[in-house]
Amino acid sequence: MSTSQPSLDRPPPRAVPGGRTAEAREANLLTLFRELKLRDLALDRIRQGLCVYDAEQRLMLFNRRYAEMYDLDPGQLRLGMGLRDVVDLRYAAGSGPDMSDEEYKGWRERINLANRVTDTEVMLRNGRVHAIHHEPTLGGGYVATFDDVTERRHAEAHIRHMALHDELTGLPNRANFTVALDHALARLRGESRPEDHRPALPDGNWLAAVLIVDPDHFKDVNDTLGHAAGDALLQGVAERVAQCLRPGDTLARIGSDEFAVLLEQVATAEQAADTARRIVAAASVPYELDGQDMVVGVSVGVTLCSREDNITDPAPLLSQADMALYEAKTKKRGTACFFHPAMRAALHRRKEMERDLRRALAEGGLQVHFQPITAIDSRRIVGAEALARWPHPVHGMVPPSEFIPLAERAGLICELGAWVLRTACTEAVGWDGLSLAVNLSPEQVRRPGIVEQVTGILRDTGLPPSNLELEITEGSLLNETPQTLLTLTRLRALGVSIALDDFGTGFSSLSYLRRYPFTKLKVDRSFVGSMAADTATHAIVQAVVTLGRSLSMRVIAEGVETEAQYRMLTTMDCDEAQGYLLGRPCPGQEFKRLVALQRESDAAAVRPV
Ligand code: C2E
Ligand code: MG
Ligand code: MG
Repeated sequence: MSTSQPSLDRPPPRAVPGGRTAEAREANLLTLFRELKLRDLALDRIRQGLCVYDAEQRLMLFNRRYAEMYDLDPGQLRLGMGLRDVVDLRYAAGSGPDMSDEEYKGWRERINLANRVTDTEVMLRNGRVHAIHHEPTLGGGYVATFDDVTERRHAEAHIRHMALHDELTGLPNRANFTVALDHALARLRGESRPEDHRPALPDGNWLAAVLIVDPDHFKDVNDTLGHAAGDALLQGVAERVAQCLRPGDTLARIGSDEFAVLLEQVATAEQAADTARRIVAAASVPYELDGQDMVVGVSVGVTLCSREDNITDPAPLLSQADMALYEAKTKKRGTACFFHPAMRAALHRRKEMERDLRRALAEGGLQVHFQPITAIDSRRIVGAEALARWPHPVHGMVPPSEFIPLAERAGLICELGAWVLRTACTEAVGWDGLSLAVNLSPEQVRRPGIVEQVTGILRDTGLPPSNLELEITEGSLLNETPQTLLTLTRLRALGVSIALDDFGTGFSSLSYLRRYPFTKLKVDRSFVGSMAADTATHAIVQAVVTLGRSLSMRVIAEGVETEAQYRMLTTMDCDEAQGYLLGRPCPGQEFKRLVALQRESDAAAVRPV
């Protein structure tokens, strides 16, 4: 700073006698200078860019932030410069408005001082976004402030994208799909939504089709290979499905493992069926996951809608496709099913049954029956398996094969399982040492707190832990987490036995047998039923018995219906048997009578003659 200039840091000049006027002027100048300096300091410290033009469009004032925001060196800007020159400087620095040179020239000519307050947002060539506020000043000029809102706009765009897309696959999500379907239905009816930018459909008798695509073994992959493999599978399925679609079709991920497809301008139902078949075929090619080839496959539910249907709401179409998917899933996996109105009745029944089951559970409408378990060598009852029963007031006895999956789907299985366990343990206390087997569903094993629940029920009922055996299926082991092993080990540590139920029907991985603390293997009844007629099955049962024995487990055969089967099991050295030949599931009272009869005949046998 030159010495001839007054400085803020310098003390004011001393008063000289007779020099009052010069002194006053200097003091005034100093005050003015101080004010200007303070103003500049203040202007340079605000986070907004700021500039002021006079009525002749000449730059009167600007701050450092303004220059920074337009990638200008503050030295490039001079007070008195014309507005168009400033704009040209910005354009040359790459921070002009995002337009072609031609467009820029036209715009430059048109720019004028605003005579009213305006707020605009401008996208710059360098990708930044500026929010600009113009306000006229009294003399005919204007003051403009500039905010860089780039990050804020990016974050908003990201949030908007996230709200409408699935993160994993990048596909539209359910909300987005519903909007697309709503627009498609409007176009089908010959209407158009104002926010819809697609062209109207050409003349014709068009159909719209909604397909719901669901991988068949997603849960297994997720549980066995882990979530990373599950994610890779979903991405793989999305790619395969996308390859089967035309450019204007919409693919979305509408649930954890559910995809939806919207086909517009479909000429015939056969065309939609053809797309569904291609999707099934594409998805059935093995996926390479975690270094393994996995065959997964998908099921597809399809529903159609024509202009005459005059559908205005996307929701019913989605639920129709869902019902068709449900039907496809109950058939052979890897099939596509079209919606049929009869499916509505089936859905209605399922919902009704779910409601009834909930009520039965709450109001004591369920029962537990007991099926005898017999020691093969002595043919004496050594215990029983507790089996849930649901006598429905209208539909009669509902089989567990129907209501157990229903309870699982409705999230009732843990409550139901706990009730069975408590009821059965209460009953078994009076059995005088016989063992009680109770089924645990995979969800019960997975849910934290099962060990505490079993402990509590044993304590409350007084049943010794050594009299209780918990039956689990391989479904519980698919999710090979350390938690499952810990749960089973803790249950074993209570003194409770653990049986592997339905052995041979699932993955039958021998490594499970080594890793988990099983005390018993239950050979599934499908093997027992056919072993007399089929030598290969006979050999399998024999091998399972030998395997169980060599791992120090007891082996029980389920579903023994004939003496021939029983004899075979005797020669195989199987430990126990369960089946209609030896006793059907019956109420607790009846089971007790059977046991009492057995005791009486035992007593008669030892009574001296
Ligand atoms: P499971 O645990 O394998 O039970 C044996 C099933 O075989 C029972 O069917 C039983 O009635 C049937 N069974 C026994 N002997 C014979 C026979 O000689 N021939 C034939 N054909 N079948 C026989 P149920 O009671 O219908 O139960 C079916 C399945 O439902 C059970 O299979 C079990 O997985 C499940 N379940 C039943 N009660 C419960 C429960 O309280 N909790 C859980 N999680 N599952 C249960
Ligand atoms: Mg069982
Ligand atoms: Mg079984």
